[in-house]
Amino acid sequence: MADELTTEETHDREREEAAARRFHPSAAREAVAPAAPDEHAVASIFDCRKVAVFYSEKRAIRDVDIDLRQNEISALIGPSGCGKSTFLRCLNRMNDLIPGARVDGEIVYHGENLYASNIDPVQVRKRIGMVFQKPNPFPKSIYDNIAFGPRVMGMKGSMDEIVEGALRRGALWDEVKDRLKTNAFGMSGGQQQRLCIARALATEPDVLLMDEPCSALDPISTGRIEDLMLELKTKISIVIVTHNMQQAARVSDRTAFFTVELDETGKNRTGAVVEYDRTDKIFTNPSDSRTQDYVSGKFG
Ligand code: ADP
Repeated sequence: MADELTTEETHDREREEAAARRFHPSAAREAVAPAAPDEHAVASIFDCRKVAVFYSEKRAIRDVDIDLRQNEISALIGPSGCGKSTFLRCLNRMNDLIPGARVDGEIVYHGENLYASNIDPVQVRKRIGMVFQKPNPFPKSIYDNIAFGPRVMGMKGSMDEIVEGALRRGALWDEVKDRLKTNAFGMSGGQQQRLCIARALATEPDVLLMDEPCSALDPISTGRIEDLMLELKTKISIVIVTHNMQQAARVSDRTAFFTVELDETGKNRTGAVVEYDRTDKIFTNPSDSRTQDYVSGKFG
């Protein structure tokens, strides 16, 4: 009798299994058409429709209508305060963790509304990982930083292999394989950031969200992370917020340019997307004069 589940427990288990299936990358990959050479046929991973975010009464962004594509790097650029990080946090429901924050509109991830009542935000964040501006390793060994997520998730298989795999994908294995048990705080800033990327990769996410991941790094470490992003996009999709326009031009496939608009009272500032297109178009032949002014450095 002890092994029998109550009806409620059975439903809980079914819901959990459905959520895990829904957000498992292999399931996600099966659910979409294979990438085709025609750019219009490249599968979108997020379809965002009229997305708005409020912090209490204040509207931070409005009417964001963009499709982010699978196995691409999408860059979000624009002046400070235009809502790039706010929008990025919508994509893995991180804004749910901010008291008073509210998301309106629709974000469809692999065909499912990310904000539907049956979607578990914890499952979402497992499948859609995040890396922040400042490297934030845990005060633990390099090994335990990587093993943390897989342990919490109860991932099956050899932990040594999971750790090695993630560190290899994070382009860090050769530098740290002989000191896995040493504290992560002993690493350089660039290594710490690659550790955070490897940590995010350890739970096998489908998407990586990066919020200015190189702004605290020197040019050599920045170059390593950019190379890593280009390698990773063959397997996952990446959305990056960057202040560095050269970086957006170097690594991204598509770019969304955000700006801040003032309402008629001149008091309320709201972020909005001016233009979203292929990165080469945004940087060489944008459709909107505001984009042209920003990318040419006239304003920003
Ligand atoms: P960006 O990333 O483009 O610099 P943000 O998304 O950080 O812009 O901010 C957009 C707007 O939302 C700004 O006016 C900012 O002050 C506001 N904002 C951001 N985070 C919060 C928060 N946690 N609480 C209240 N307002 C916020």
